[in-house]
Amino acid sequence: MKLSIPLSAAASVLCLAFAMPAAMAEPCMKVTLTGTQGGPPLFNGQAGAGTLVQYGDETNGCGAVKLQFDTGRGTNMRLSQMKVPVGKLDAIFFTHMHSDHTEGLADVLQLRWHFNSGGPKVDVVCSEDAKSPLGHTLSCTRYVKHIGDSLIQSGEIAQRLVENKKRLAGGPADLVNVSTFAPGQEPVKVWSKGDVKVSAIGSRHIPGHASYRVDTPAGSVVVGGDAGNDAPKPPRPSSTSERVEALAQGADVLVHSTIHPVMGPDKDSGFPPPIYFRQSNASDLGALSKRAGVKHLMLTHLIPPMGAAKQGPYPIPGGALTEDSYKAAVVDGGFEGNTIVGTDLVTLTLPAK
Ligand SMILES: [Zn+2]
Repeated sequence: MKLSIPLSAAASVLCLAFAMPAAMAEPCMKVTLTGTQGGPPLFNGQAGAGTLVQYGDETNGCGAVKLQFDTGRGTNMRLSQMKVPVGKLDAIFFTHMHSDHTEGLADVLQLRWHFNSGGPKVDVVCSEDAKSPLGHTLSCTRYVKHIGDSLIQSGEIAQRLVENKKRLAGGPADLVNVSTFAPGQEPVKVWSKGDVKVSAIGSRHIPGHASYRVDTPAGSVVVGGDAGNDAPKPPRPSSTSERVEALAQGADVLVHSTIHPVMGPDKDSGFPPPIYFRQSNASDLGALSKRAGVKHLMLTHLIPPMGAAKQGPYPIPGGALTEDSYKAAVVDGGFEGNTIVGTDLVTLTLPAK
């Protein structure tokens, strides 16, 4: 008994000594584009749309919390280049149920099921089922529930369960907590962990499309997804979403899909006007960023990709675009902040060093 008092006192001092530097470490966040390809085409090995938002402090490389927004094709390849194991993702958020934003989920979850079936589960946060006036339903819940079905049908899941009985019997979908929300005009809180809060609004592109905002003590980032204006075509004040603009007020960073004005119906690309009009163009995103007071605009999901002669089957009027082509379009919109024309794995750290 006599020994236990000084020992526990010594342990307390030791704990305090370890706790103090962590408590004083400066919070930081990192925003990485895990894929910048716009739409279903393939170009030059670019990964499909996705954004990784990490938050922490210098003791953990700003990476204590890891949030993935959309999982386009190749997401797990890009995560591996960043040395982020899929088992470490806290949550995955979807802007909408288009394959260029979702098709990497099967790879991510199969890998996690293979090696991390012991948990923890990963949260998948997305819109509740959205019925289109045209009769079909967009369903994130069903997408996730059936994510491993082809592997169950092929017999692989059963075969690997025999090899390792600790894996979850229902396949990759068993590793997910799906959390849905009703996307509306006002932001709703959809996820939180410690100091990290994520809110969402509904925005127009296809039924169920949502845009997100992450707030942390180190800064804030809005992930707009493929949002466009509520009016589906001109006349309208802008191609951008008023709801995304409201969500982005005072945000440090806006990550947004973009289409270059050169693909507009007034040029000769032949690109379908309804698809052009449902994206936000680079000039209008510059104007939105200026009005909202955003410091950094990260353009992603570039239509067309830099250096491409075509977007899918559609030629680029005037030839391939460059980083300067996109920056000039943003400046046309009046934005004077920092514009990052997205390439895979480009990363912005806050606060800036
Ligand atoms: Zn898209």
